[in-house]
Amino acid sequence: MLHPTRYLSKLTDSSAVAKFMEMSTLSYLPSSWIDNSLLRPMRYAVQGSLLASEKAIEYGWSINLSGGYHHASAEAGGGFCVYGDISLIVLRLQTKYSQLRKVMIIDLDAHQGNGYERDKHDGLFNKKCKDMKVFIFDMYNQYIYPRDYESRRAIDYNGELSHHCSTDTFLKQLRQNLAPKIDHFQPEFVIYNAGTDCLEHDPLGNLDISEEGVIERDQIVFDECLKRNIPITMLLSGGYQKNNAAVITRSLLNLNKKFKLFSQPNWRDRWLQLYGSQKRQKQDKEEKQEQKEDECQTEKSSYYIHNYSWAPNPKIQQNQQENEKQ
Ligand SMILES: [Zn+2]
Repeated sequence: MLHPTRYLSKLTDSSAVAKFMEMSTLSYLPSSWIDNSLLRPMRYAVQGSLLASEKAIEYGWSINLSGGYHHASAEAGGGFCVYGDISLIVLRLQTKYSQLRKVMIIDLDAHQGNGYERDKHDGLFNKKCKDMKVFIFDMYNQYIYPRDYESRRAIDYNGELSHHCSTDTFLKQLRQNLAPKIDHFQPEFVIYNAGTDCLEHDPLGNLDISEEGVIERDQIVFDECLKRNIPITMLLSGGYQKNNAAVITRSLLNLNKKFKLFSQPNWRDRWLQLYGSQKRQKQDKEEKQEQKEDECQTEKSSYYIHNYSWAPNPKIQQNQQENEKQ
């Protein structure tokens, strides 16, 4: 569904997996061992992400205690990630719930989510689910892996952070920007990549977010989604310290306490009601009208916004070519 055969066949080569996992010793191990001990558990985790996304439609929220392989794209692995579960969620939702048109990815792992960003940048979502708009909200340490500048062009809210960003700075930036972006885009589904490698002392993240800060971060994201009736699925992604599990546990308990997660009403009928065909047709009509107005307004500028990404304005290019000929 996401990865082409040419990529999947690479996974039978131990040295290719060693490269994606950044573990050189794997290249000396037989591929059957790698598949059984490493890739198969990862596939289970990816299945967990897909199942979680469906459960979020049903219950309004869900949490996969794994997944969040945000460095894997359709064509390449990297940064401990082999399968691109975030892009897969987008494709699966579109297949299963054809009325879904707007998905927001909120990525608060310390690293840039260049895998699904690469997929968006390469036009995968436009090609495989052309009626779907994907908004990327990514806050990450700009000075660490992967520093993928080309993929950054696919980000809609680019929250670049510096080394040792403090809890206050991080939460202030999140509070100031998340709600306005949600209100502007009006997502119908949120994928929340909640890596905890932003915790202070993490050997890879290099940010200084306290344990309380991480708990508050998760609460802010859930609050903004649940109060607007937007289904949210949370993936745990990166985190490389012994205290990660304890902090995540405290955060999940806090979410349950604040939002009474297990008492949330069954949302499936409500969701279908909200995004059922009648409302959808009305929204499509309004959006087409808005698009027309946008194109009129931006006709004179060199670039225009198309499906939330920048592209050269073909009308201007054509005019320039005609001028050059003259
Ligand atoms: Zn990370």
